[in-house]
Amino acid sequence: MVPKEVADQNMRVERYNYQNQFEDCLPSLLPKLQSILVEGSYILSEHVRAFERAFAEFIGARHALGVNCGTDAVTIALKALNIGRGDEVITQANTFHATVLAIVNCGATPVLVDADDKTFLMDQTQLSPALTSRTRVILPVHLYGKPLPLDYLSELSEKYGVAIVEDACQAHGAGWADRRVGALGILGCFSFHPSKNLAAAGDGGAITTNSDALAKSIGRMRAFGQEEQNNHVTLGFNSRLDAVQAAILLSKLPKLDEWNRKRRSIAAAYREHLCDLPLTFQQPTYGEDHVYHLFQVRTDSRDELLRHLRDDQIDAVVRYPVPIHMQPAFVHLRWKTGQYPVAETLSRELLAIPMRPDMKDIEVDYVCNSIRRFFVNTARRARKVAV
Ligand SMILES: *Cc1c(COP(=O)(O)O)cnc(C)c1O
Repeated sequence: MVPKEVADQNMRVERYNYQNQFEDCLPSLLPKLQSILVEGSYILSEHVRAFERAFAEFIGARHALGVNCGTDAVTIALKALNIGRGDEVITQANTFHATVLAIVNCGATPVLVDADDKTFLMDQTQLSPALTSRTRVILPVHLYGKPLPLDYLSELSEKYGVAIVEDACQAHGAGWADRRVGALGILGCFSFHPSKNLAAAGDGGAITTNSDALAKSIGRMRAFGQEEQNNHVTLGFNSRLDAVQAAILLSKLPKLDEWNRKRRSIAAAYREHLCDLPLTFQQPTYGEDHVYHLFQVRTDSRDELLRHLRDDQIDAVVRYPVPIHMQPAFVHLRWKTGQYPVAETLSRELLAIPMRPDMKDIEVDYVCNSIRRFFVNTARRARKVAV
């Protein structure tokens, strides 16, 4: 009989393990990187085109265009739709800062809706009241890797002539059966930041679309607005994926579905082991492929639980501690504390516990046991106080 592994006192549970992401692909990747370095075609190039083709196919979109980062992906997606001063873009109060920064940097006005208390995604019942004659885009975020069903948004899109741009920066491969986010709206935005499910060795991003016209315009826009060299037909950006990152991303892409399946099975183990504790989780939607960029647990003793897990060398983290409407960078937008109460509550109660596709059972057990000990001790202390 194989002896059961036992957690020792030096156990640590990290949030990332980059070495394991290269698994067996390093021996074939290194010579490729070497030849890219020596060749000198560093920016865009056929290496980037090869990754773009593979990523477009993975998502199920006609086109993917590599850019510098996810923030640029959202910014350029909005610019490609001619979004600017006087236009309103609706998104949610509980997202990463960059979603809203991109809107503001386009010169447009971000309009927020609150989060849904159960799914932690956009509260879609607030969309209709938020629409005005100036609304041009709805920008939903597939937050923590959970795909937001876009049926209702598509209805609104058709009825009111607003575009849907997906912030899929946390949701590479999420969707339903064979329909993946990033190919559901008119444009999909992805980040390959090292923390994401598909990670570059630095910054990177992509925009996906089924529209040939938009792909063409994004292709110009990411490269100084050039139609061809020295013919600048529109105002653009310098935001291009490079060959080294593309080669790394292309070597990892074939593993992504398997990694996402592993994330789902770890999430299932967390849900099962923690189900009797005073915690809640992102409510599942029937048929979804959640890719668990993060696994969030919700508790009103979040800060105490975080301290406890850190003491046990478990790398838990708060994502995100300050909702959009309370961030100092956005004071000029005159949002008020209390305006998006669900987003505020979630910012106080959510804790992301370690989630890596290569997590071992022993690590999952260690995290679950630590959380269990926290709640048992809390209950014991509470009883003492009561006596
Ligand atoms: C990471 C992220 C971004 C920005 O991506 P970067 O590559 O870091 O610029 C945008 N939106 C969301 C929801 C993200 O998680």
